Amino acid sequence: MSSNSKRHGYNNPKYKNPNPVKIIPLGGIGEIGKNMTAFEYGNDIIIVDCGMSFPEENMPGVDCVIPDFTYLRRNQEKIRGILITHGHEDHIGSLPYFLREFKCHVFGGTMAIELIKLKLQDKNVPLEGIKLTTCKNGDIIKLGNAFSAEFIRVNHSIADSYALCINTPVGRIVHSGDFKIDYTPINGKTINLQRLGELGKDGVLMFMCESTNVEIEGFSPSEKHVGEAFSHYFRKAEGRIIVATFSSHVHRMQQIIQAAEKYNRHICLSGRSMIQVFNIANSLGYIDIQPDTLIDIDSIDNYPDNRIVILTTGSQAEPMSALTRMAFNSHRSVDIQKGDTVIISADPIPGNEKPIYRVINELYKKGAHVIYQSLADVHVSGHAYRDELMMLHTLIKPKYFIPVHGEYRMLCLHKEMAESLGMPEESIYIIENGDVLSLTEDGAKITDHVPASPVLIDGTATVDADDRILTDRIHLSEDGCLAIAITVDERTGDLACSPAVNSMGCFDSDDMDVLYELISNKVDDLLKQASNKAGSIEAFLEKRNFREQIKNFVSSKSGRRPMIIFNISYVNGYSDDEYYGDV
Ligand SMILES: [Zn+2]
Ligand SMILES: [Zn+2]
Repeated sequence: MSSNSKRHGYNNPKYKNPNPVKIIPLGGIGEIGKNMTAFEYGNDIIIVDCGMSFPEENMPGVDCVIPDFTYLRRNQEKIRGILITHGHEDHIGSLPYFLREFKCHVFGGTMAIELIKLKLQDKNVPLEGIKLTTCKNGDIIKLGNAFSAEFIRVNHSIADSYALCINTPVGRIVHSGDFKIDYTPINGKTINLQRLGELGKDGVLMFMCESTNVEIEGFSPSEKHVGEAFSHYFRKAEGRIIVATFSSHVHRMQQIIQAAEKYNRHICLSGRSMIQVFNIANSLGYIDIQPDTLIDIDSIDNYPDNRIVILTTGSQAEPMSALTRMAFNSHRSVDIQKGDTVIISADPIPGNEKPIYRVINELYKKGAHVIYQSLADVHVSGHAYRDELMMLHTLIKPKYFIPVHGEYRMLCLHKEMAESLGMPEESIYIIENGDVLSLTEDGAKITDHVPASPVLIDGTATVDADDRILTDRIHLSEDGCLAIAITVDERTGDLACSPAVNSMGCFDSDDMDVLYELISNKVDDLLKQASNKAGSIEAFLEKRNFREQIKNFVSSKSGRRPMIIFNISYVNGYSDDEYYGDV
């Protein structure tokens, strides 16, 4: 037993700490995205990761989704620091929003810290009061009185990824971060299985482990595997080669550079984030490249096609990305031409297949040869498959376990997997975002809930998910909108003129004028009937019945149910034109 576990009392039968450490996930459970978990003991809170999610289909106009910080806001004075496992968006993407409000100390690997700096700069977050500290394998950080955390190297699809061992007064909590086991990683730095095994031997109270690929049997292929595939396609290609991949995947970038140099091609970079990350990685010494390999994208016409590799963003067919622009002829320097080989070195993010296939179709139309995941081994996952997960569980041998970083079914499968390794069912906790899981040596239970609904960001404002704004946007996007302007004569209370009708996105232009007239007449009729009954037009307009009648009328004449907006204005008998005409 180490001195550490003695101090914390774990595994020492004479001492049991009755006070729990609270584990509070604010995001990342039941979803892949916006990972963020708070750990609280007494007066100390530490946070692991601060990620964002991409908006779902039912969130039109939303730029990104971040966790709810309400609980942390209420306990701001307790926050001792944020630990970042690695630099992917689902782990650092919310930091600009968080750090704008909470000035605190962030600890993370080199690559993550560099990407965070870039992000804060991009979003103009004032750096005053914020401290960023770079950590490496084996570093132990003390946070407040209750916590310390050790960074343990893992393999993943971004450089400098870490698992964390969080030492608490109750016992050790190991958080896997995102990981895979790669025996032949590109930078030669294998996951520190030895340290994880040592911790397991010493005693781990709680294991929180990612579940992304729990559905896939076996062992994920090494990143090296992709290099072999690149080599194969680079050898065969006769024209230009265009490779799209995630800009943060520095090891993938390195393999593309290596293949280019092997086949005597120059590399040029396309896409803002590709250039930014290349510069960071290069300045950190993570990129091995000959001085004359890199050329400027504007100079590609000076080289024969079979000497060119374009490394680009857009592997997810993001609308504004470089590859999408190339495919649709709107890129500044590159148009796809016959004989190009395009390699998409990434998996579609689930749910994003359609736009990707649209881009692939377009690339084929332009005469390119496209190599993508369902045809070739040009991508391997950065997340552990089942056998790798089992190995980590076996090494760490935790007393308790929480599956994280997965949709609900993945968490359940991960639970079943842990049970198959001999873990009692009651030692595994499937929890939800916002649950407060109070953990002692004798077990854990949910003791409270904190707000953890997704917070939607639109531009610089937040959108309440329950607000009408999103349902309105969906209605507008599906059915268009019809505006009816009603002008009332202030003196008589009657209509001053026929209602004016206008619309967007709901009628064919051929039918429009006829429909406008029909609708105007109908509104006119109904309002005249109303004023005959001596009620005010305004009061009548407020009636649900009136709106329903118009809706049904529009639907019966056009077959559509657009959103209808009534606009009422008043005149005093003289139009503005006449008045100004007198001056
Ligand atoms: Zn990741
Ligand atoms: Zn992740």
